[in-house]
Amino acid sequence: MTEQRTAIVTGAARGIGAGIALRLASDGYAVAVLDLDEAACATTVDKIIAAGGKALAVGVDVADEPGTQAAVERIATELGAPTILVNNAGITRDNLLFKLTVQDWDMVMNVHLRGSFLMSKAAQKYMTEAKFGRIVNLSSTSALGNRGQANYAAAKAGLQGFTKTLAIELGKYGITTNAIAPGFIETEMTAATAERMGISFDDFKAGASKAIPVGHIGKPDDIAHAVSFFVSEGAGFVNGQVLYVAGGPKA
Ligand code: NAP
Repeated sequence: MTEQRTAIVTGAARGIGAGIALRLASDGYAVAVLDLDEAACATTVDKIIAAGGKALAVGVDVADEPGTQAAVERIATELGAPTILVNNAGITRDNLLFKLTVQDWDMVMNVHLRGSFLMSKAAQKYMTEAKFGRIVNLSSTSALGNRGQANYAAAKAGLQGFTKTLAIELGKYGITTNAIAPGFIETEMTAATAERMGISFDDFKAGASKAIPVGHIGKPDDIAHAVSFFVSEGAGFVNGQVLYVAGGPKA
């Protein structure tokens, strides 16, 4: 049997990240559950351990350079050299362009772009040494443009360029880099959007479902399933792709 691989999932205390962490643990990987607040990672970690898996809670801001470096080194020591990285941590700070503040522009860029850059840079060292690696970046259908999300859409489109470039640079080391662009997924992020728009989450979900060809919104497990494929051994020839997981060609 080959040695157990270690995966890092950022933003894994809740939502899509928690779903990805649970799925990768059930696939047999040791999982570093990374989020801003280490204590908040406990729910995900406890579920993995209760199911017989191996997990470590790691608190760090993905936009903090020394913090990410130290976190990845700690994961390598305590869990094993990380050869799988899922850059999932994300925030929204929505507003129409004329009201969008520089602070909200910078915050969104920092978490999504700087965060994915710093985490990938720290983890690639272990992947190149192992001559095996899998990086999955969370983009969004918003990359195609979405009213009120100039900052978020730019960051999510930027992640697609980042993905394709890492695919070209790192491919020769056995490392693949791909992106998943979810449509509407039921999490606290979409619940917060409904609240901001002044409508109930149920009404928001029902309205969104009507525009989605499969007739319903997505769940974190739908994204976790796609991640499970991208990080698998057999997906080594799939590199630099963006997979829209949105219940239709766009949503
Ligand atoms: P969520 O429920 O808001 O969870 C995001 C997690 O990321 C939270 O636990 C959050 O921690 C953490 N996080 C935020 N900033 C961080 C930082 N600087 N460092 C470390 N962790 C940080 O969001 P989600 O809906 O699961 O979304 C996950 C990813 O999918 C995001 O990249 C999002 O943009 C993308 N996505 C979501 C949807 C959707 O419909 N939900 C659609 C397309 C793409 P705190 O709780 O402490 O803030």
